[in-house]
Amino acid sequence: QSQELSQVRIDYHGALLALQEHGTRMVCTGKMHTDRICRFDYLCYCTEAEEFVFFHSNASVMLPNLGPRRFQPALLDLSSVEDHNTQYFNFLELPAAALKFMPKPVFVPDVTLILNRFNPDNLMHIFHDDLLPIYYTMQQYSDLDDEARLVFMEGWGEGAHFDLYRLLSSKQPLLKEQLKTFGKLMCFTKSYVGLSKMTTWYQYGFVQPQGPKANILISGNEIRQFASFVMERLNITREEGDDYIVVFKRTTNRLILNEAELLLALAQEFQMRTVTVSLEEQSFDSIIQIISGATMLVSMHGAQMITSMFLPRGAAVVELFPYAINSEQYTPYKTLASLPGMDLQYVAWRNTMEENTVTYPDRPWDQGGIVHLEKEEQERILASKEVSRHLCCRNPEWLFRIYQDTTVDIASFLDILRETLKKPNLKKAKVASTIHPGRVREPKCQTSVQATNEAKLLVSWQIPWNLKYLKVKEVKYEVWIQEQGENTYMPYILPHQNYTFLENIKPFTTYLVWVRCIFNKNLLGPFADVLICKT
Ligand code: UDP
Repeated sequence: QSQELSQVRIDYHGALLALQEHGTRMVCTGKMHTDRICRFDYLCYCTEAEEFVFFHSNASVMLPNLGPRRFQPALLDLSSVEDHNTQYFNFLELPAAALKFMPKPVFVPDVTLILNRFNPDNLMHIFHDDLLPIYYTMQQYSDLDDEARLVFMEGWGEGAHFDLYRLLSSKQPLLKEQLKTFGKLMCFTKSYVGLSKMTTWYQYGFVQPQGPKANILISGNEIRQFASFVMERLNITREEGDDYIVVFKRTTNRLILNEAELLLALAQEFQMRTVTVSLEEQSFDSIIQIISGATMLVSMHGAQMITSMFLPRGAAVVELFPYAINSEQYTPYKTLASLPGMDLQYVAWRNTMEENTVTYPDRPWDQGGIVHLEKEEQERILASKEVSRHLCCRNPEWLFRIYQDTTVDIASFLDILRETLKKPNLKKAKVASTIHPGRVREPKCQTSVQATNEAKLLVSWQIPWNLKYLKVKEVKYEVWIQEQGENTYMPYILPHQNYTFLENIKPFTTYLVWVRCIFNKNLLGPFADVLICKT
């Protein structure tokens, strides 16, 4: 990987002239700052002022041209976390003529993606907030290829897993701090600013208690494609065959106190080899190698569980929660495992026995200590049996409870596994089809009146066009019938391509009829155009 900015020498004089004549050009996607990504020609960055600069000339373009709305609150989010006020991007404006009085710009010839990492010390945040969004933002813009340059503007150091960011392109990513070493004014020849939020599935609780995002747009397919890319870059191939269980432990806090007993119980119950891994004792690569072939992953709640995306289809994820933590309220890993197409089984176990927990009231506040709090508040926390819903990120009761160590009660642990896990499914899941039916074709209705109070409605249609190319286990049709002017409808699920309705059909009445196809119970097609049927 190259440390210098480029192997290709650029025509410095030409670039400077272009900047002076054309100024900066910006064209963005997105209606709001929260869904915006901008592409720039000649976006500059002043390392002394720590500000991006837009140079105005006769040829510069700024689309959207928001006027002062650009500051309400920002042009765009620089990280994938939505509308976080420490992650906003904006630029200063200058006339291109000011360049004459400024330090000579240093040009970055690479196509650059400029963004903020959100929390590069935490593995969950690294994958969810940075790596997946960067990977799919790069897929969105074809010139963000393997030669693209990543620039991280959040201002942190490399962090614990910088090698993971290096996998995304062949060029060394640059940190904000390093930009200074190149000069006082840097100009990015071509750059994209911002990240796609399409891949994120979790919100961390800044404005409402944490939980799955309201409108998840990613499926297991895209997660698994990304995981395959990472494995390929790490030279890891999934080894199949041997069934084994991985216990992913933490070694500095949130410990499993009876680890040996837990391992033995798992090995006996499932008749499988059981291994432990930890970020402190193994390299990241070797952990992924091990997880990629595992039948079950067992771990205390925590960022290391993001590695469950590397499990094979059909595997089980078992998440352990310390005392007084409601597992339903902290579900980044449950949501991941449950994405359609992830094909993972998920089980949560929660310590309900206070005698099996070890608390650390004397630790610093960020590791869950509470001795800095008022006596009454400490007593309230100690007496509480469950942390109530709360916002991120400094709730002392939450931190106190989530950093407890736990002796896992083997009986209740095995009970919940036996209840929830389908044994035959372990690691043998088939990839379920996700192909949806097309519209049913040539929908028709025929009506007849039998008597003054009796009528018939025959509805028929042809199969969707794509069905003849597919092997579908179960094809059904759904018909909705609504009497015109009423606001309710009757739904019917039907196995054939026509049906004669007699019940609830009145003479001399107009009915609206919708028909759609359904594959395998849950793959719904679109409705065909509404039929207007008069008896
Ligand atoms: N971590 C670890 N071992 C430990 C404690 C933490 O490997 O004993 C890792 C953890 O996986 C995460 C980072 O250190 O990547 C920060 O952990 P923290 O407890 O702050 O976050 P959480 O795991 O609760 O998201």
